[in-house]
Amino acid sequence: MVVNSGKMTVIAIDGPAGAGKSTAAKQLAGVLHITYVNTGSLYRAVALAAHRAGIEPENVTRDFLDTLHLEYGNGKLLLNGEDPGEALRTPEIAQGASRVSALPTVREYLLPVQRNAALKEWIVMEGRDIGTVIFPDAQCKFFITASIEERARRRLAQSGEIASGATLESVIEEIRLRDERDSTRAAAPLKQADDAVFIDTTGKSISDVNAELISFLPEELQKRCK
Ligand code: C5P
Repeated sequence: MVVNSGKMTVIAIDGPAGAGKSTAAKQLAGVLHITYVNTGSLYRAVALAAHRAGIEPENVTRDFLDTLHLEYGNGKLLLNGEDPGEALRTPEIAQGASRVSALPTVREYLLPVQRNAALKEWIVMEGRDIGTVIFPDAQCKFFITASIEERARRRLAQSGEIASGATLESVIEEIRLRDERDSTRAAAPLKQADDAVFIDTTGKSISDVNAELISFLPEELQKRCK
């Protein structure tokens, strides 16, 4: 069962790229009136900073990370005092994020940034290792996925993160590469926590997925949705 009473007031939503996590997590935070934290944007911000400094993702060091000022408060990410906006959403930065995220030094650097976001009130935090590493004692854990074809179709429909001339096949390949890197890395690989609820969003509408998520929440939170 998903509810771990007496534990952190965190709803952890993990899963692969394009599974519908962000949409579900944002909507859930909206109906519950609680903070939403997208941890992928932290890895993207590190990749963007490295790219701007001309550093290959694999060469990011702790000394470089210590020159950055990265904050995530009230659902807003600031990199060196600025909102990086759409610069985080390019295909190059998506792959860069996946590459820097394999580095233990990057994961270690981002750990307190993520943990500090959940000090008292309920939050929805979305990522790859929230239920396994960041908040293993989160009260509610979900692992959301969908078929690779559906995830690629959603990516194509969003268009923002798609290179010009992309096809369904090229997007499937891009997602496959990212999935493989994310789930085979030694440091905090993408995997379902033993106590997470598994949700396959293939063929489901956003409202179906949301209703399913809400049905697993503790009563205290369900009441907030009425
Ligand atoms: O979720 P999003 O696609 O923005 O994440 C970008 C990349 O950041 C992922 O492919 C993954 O490699 C990495 N990531 C991670 N751990 C998280 C969130 C994201 O390793 N908690």
